[in-house]
Amino acid sequence: MQFLPLIEAKREGRVLAPDQISEMVRAFTAGEIPDYQMAAFLMAVCFRGLDPGETRILTLSMRDSGEVLTLPDDPRPIADKHSTGGVGDKVSLPLAPMLACLGFRVPMISGRGLGITGGTLDKLDSIPGFRTLLSAGRIIDVVQQTGCVICGQTDRMVPADRKLYALRDATATVPSIPLIVASILSKKLAEDLDALVLDVKFGAAAFMTTLNRARELASAMVNLGRECGVNTRALLTSMDAPLGRSAGNWLEVKEAVDCLENRGPDDLRGLVIDCAAHLLIQTGKAASIEQGRSLASGCLASGAPRRKWDEMLVAQGADLAAVEKKIASATTAKAVVDLTSPSEGFVSVCDARVIGEVVRDLEAGRLTKDSIVNYENGVDALAKPGERVEKGSLLARVHGSTREAAEAAAVRIAAAIKISDNPPSVPSFVREVIF
Ligand code: URA
Repeated sequence: MQFLPLIEAKREGRVLAPDQISEMVRAFTAGEIPDYQMAAFLMAVCFRGLDPGETRILTLSMRDSGEVLTLPDDPRPIADKHSTGGVGDKVSLPLAPMLACLGFRVPMISGRGLGITGGTLDKLDSIPGFRTLLSAGRIIDVVQQTGCVICGQTDRMVPADRKLYALRDATATVPSIPLIVASILSKKLAEDLDALVLDVKFGAAAFMTTLNRARELASAMVNLGRECGVNTRALLTSMDAPLGRSAGNWLEVKEAVDCLENRGPDDLRGLVIDCAAHLLIQTGKAASIEQGRSLASGCLASGAPRRKWDEMLVAQGADLAAVEKKIASATTAKAVVDLTSPSEGFVSVCDARVIGEVVRDLEAGRLTKDSIVNYENGVDALAKPGERVEKGSLLARVHGSTREAAEAAAVRIAAAIKISDNPPSVPSFVREVIF
């Protein structure tokens, strides 16, 4: 295809025709457009944007660049959640089995972490025997039998996004709202969904640092999701402090299991329940947010999601005896260091960006796509903003590969946690719902 005129048109801010966009996606996926030309096009999009019609065609062409899941007819609605990513965000782990218990089918296709953002697949890889790479046929079988699966994209799903995302990552063209919308929704639309809830984060450690930008991204995704036949809502949630009390792959799995056992930190539990409550409303299973929350919290208290978690683990190859043994150990890291409060008062700040950087530098995250991840390291027992602490109270426990590394991490975490004399005002965690 003659791609140069499309680059020129976008450089001048002109609107592209639907068949120009679909042909561009086909040709790029087939290797017929060189990376340098596509990089120039992506940069033009960063400056000029895409209108909603162009974004829709780009998204659908990317979805159709590979295999899409087709689940059999079944009265259970197909639902999923997507988070734009943050520190300590393990919501998917308890949510998928809970949704299965609430009568949904959940083909949750997840990704890996990069930089300070954790990835669901890395967390799951810390579970002995658990397999995240499944064929499309196996994904459908597990969903039909168990009600939920959490796995990676197959090689054949949305190849256009894989190629485009790698190029965007290398050419500083990730932060463009239409490109983000197309990237996220092309993958979600390949799951054959009836309903989708988006957790769009804003704040210190979020992709979108301001509430306004997060709202803009959320509205674009909600509108397009709905136009494409998927009932879509978005929660705008704060990512100034880590979610829950742990960050690091295995430590987050343990906290997810706490949540499934009806314990676990309030913010994690609240967000899991809210995501489920909205999906219940979106699919006509609840009439109000109060009823949705009550159904979801009753389900969690019944213990069924905890049993469903084990069923999903077995369906994906986990060795349950080894998992239980691993859960029972206080740490699986080589060295543990406690950080205690130097004074009494109230936690006013626990900076998620710094905590994310520390966890990444403990090798629990990736500096580059090729970094080797340590599944056992990270931080837990993190103090939360608003909490009262005494002099000597535990503020965080660092799990590292050596005592020196854990001590160095503890020094950096100490600087990220501020103690004030008076209780801080802690704004509501779910700031807005877009639908
Ligand atoms: N996550 C994605 O999957 N794609 C983006 O473009 C940004 C975040």
